Amino acid sequence: MRLVQRFYTLQCVRCDTFWDEHQTTTVCLRCRNALDVKYDYDYIRDRLNLYSLKNSPLSALKYMDFYPIENRRRVVSLDEGATPLHRSQNLSKALGLKNLYVKDEGANPTGVFKDRGSMVEFTKALELGAQAVCVASTGNMAASCSAYAAIAGLPCYVLVPEGTAIGKLSQTLAYGARVLQVRGTYGDAVRLTEKMAEDHKFYLAGDYAFRAEGQKSISYEIIEQLYWKAPDFVIVPIGCGTNLAAIWKGFVEFKKLGFIDTLPKLIGVQPEGCSTICEAFKRNVDRAVLIEKPKTIASAVGIGVPQDDIKALRALRESKGYCLTVTDSEILTSQQELAKMESIFVEPSAAIPIAALPILLKEKIIHEEDVVVCIATGNGLKDPHAVLKILPSPPSIEALSSEVDKFLKNRLYEIQGIKLKDQGEILFQQVPEKDKLLDLVEQEFKVNLRNPYGDHLYTLAREFEEKGKAVTRTDLQNLVETVLKSTSPHKFLKVLDYQVVATKHARPKATVTLEFEGKQTTSESEGVGPVDAAIQALRKAVQETHDFECHLVDYQVHIDTSGTDSAVEVTMTLKDKENNQVVAVGTSPDIIVASIEAFEEGYNVLYGKNQTSLET
Ligand SMILES: *Cc1c(COP(=O)(O)O)cnc(C)c1O
Ligand SMILES: [Zn+2]
Repeated sequence: MRLVQRFYTLQCVRCDTFWDEHQTTTVCLRCRNALDVKYDYDYIRDRLNLYSLKNSPLSALKYMDFYPIENRRRVVSLDEGATPLHRSQNLSKALGLKNLYVKDEGANPTGVFKDRGSMVEFTKALELGAQAVCVASTGNMAASCSAYAAIAGLPCYVLVPEGTAIGKLSQTLAYGARVLQVRGTYGDAVRLTEKMAEDHKFYLAGDYAFRAEGQKSISYEIIEQLYWKAPDFVIVPIGCGTNLAAIWKGFVEFKKLGFIDTLPKLIGVQPEGCSTICEAFKRNVDRAVLIEKPKTIASAVGIGVPQDDIKALRALRESKGYCLTVTDSEILTSQQELAKMESIFVEPSAAIPIAALPILLKEKIIHEEDVVVCIATGNGLKDPHAVLKILPSPPSIEALSSEVDKFLKNRLYEIQGIKLKDQGEILFQQVPEKDKLLDLVEQEFKVNLRNPYGDHLYTLAREFEEKGKAVTRTDLQNLVETVLKSTSPHKFLKVLDYQVVATKHARPKATVTLEFEGKQTTSESEGVGPVDAAIQALRKAVQETHDFECHLVDYQVHIDTSGTDSAVEVTMTLKDKENNQVVAVGTSPDIIVASIEAFEEGYNVLYGKNQTSLET
């Protein structure tokens, strides 16, 4: 026997049809648009315990009365929420703002705000009798859902686009999800997942109505953390738009219940390469402008088909807010600033609100005195490669304190990365004189590369010239990194020349001529590919001259820019019989040259180590 009617229902945002949660929890069965949860707020008000709401410690669970949950005996929670509202100390000064706050959502259990939504969504999934869950994701949704599925004891099927950020993918696998990588966009993954849910009767998780209810707690917490006041502005990155709409709903509800007197203005921000909702906002239309292939480093918001466009656009307009875009370069710069000035390390998508601040100040949309809250949506460890795209990798040294002193004396720690937007710019076609080259390096990267680094850099740059490759900023950064990684003080082994013959059907053949401590040798070898043949020939040649052996334990190729004429960075890990190990790098537009250089460098370091250990 039911004593009360359910205190909420689902309603289509487009055609206003009401739906029962047993009929659908995802989209309107009539027009396939998004659903919103509508409440009987009198019921909620009557049931509220104001004392506990105002006095119990911060936690997403304390707002249970505002969620569409009926069965409170089986809540699927990982203790989400209660994230810090960090008051900016340094960034605010640099920008000229007096009351800047950062809501650090990376502090949630899986490192992203989505956990708040997953709590409600998975509680509902159990309540509605789900046997298995499936979800499409750019990575964070996958990680969050697999964590909540694991604790709920539900199998979780996940579809992500190929190339998902490594932190997110490894989390998802660790939580035990059944993962498929789709060669396509997030939109393709959504389409396949919806079909999968229908065909196999899986509970479809994702940016749907119940998730949004959980995400309202971001606003409840901000209000409480600002001593029961609303800020003037809340700045939110937009992907699907679910979070921005949920944040708005949270503020509206607390105003309705009389907990705050004013409402904030919401500012939505998107990357330039994925301006679905901002474009619609500008054109004054109520549906997103769809994008087939979004292009941005902020992969979590690279969503061309946003599911909650109607809700997000409504929220922006109702709040008298604003919507704007920022460039990938601005995003990566802000990511570093937030880390350096406020010690909050976020993923690129989460830095988007910070990137918008200078623009908003300049356009006089926000002012010095305004209370501004930026939502830092996710943790930086989710996508560690993004930050390394512009930050130079640090130097390597032999384990000698003299090397440490050299690092300090030359102030190599002052090295600075280049801006994303400048990466492809050509610096020179012909290598300038050595001193000019080093001046250029100092100007670009803020390090003074005197010898022994200077000579080495000059030699490497000349090799680019020999291959007819213009040197871009990225190339020069790679060369500087290579030089700072090379530690062999003595060149025992020098490769003088090589020749590789490769055809489609036969095994490639390589001939290598090298000099080992003054003695020349030439050797030949075949291999499965041209690089393999060259390295085999090298190993044969060194074995002929003396009996020191080392073998390759890892080989990686990295290409920073696009195009077949890009420079490649080869990283090789070599090991000798004593288990000494070295990681050596070679950079060249020619992959064989880069590989030979890495081998040469690694070999010299290991051989040098063996010489000194024989002496002592
Ligand atoms: C999902 C996500 C967003 C975008 O949120 P929407 O609700 O899709 O608009 C932003 N930042 C991060 C880190 C995310 O994971
Ligand atoms: Zn409808």
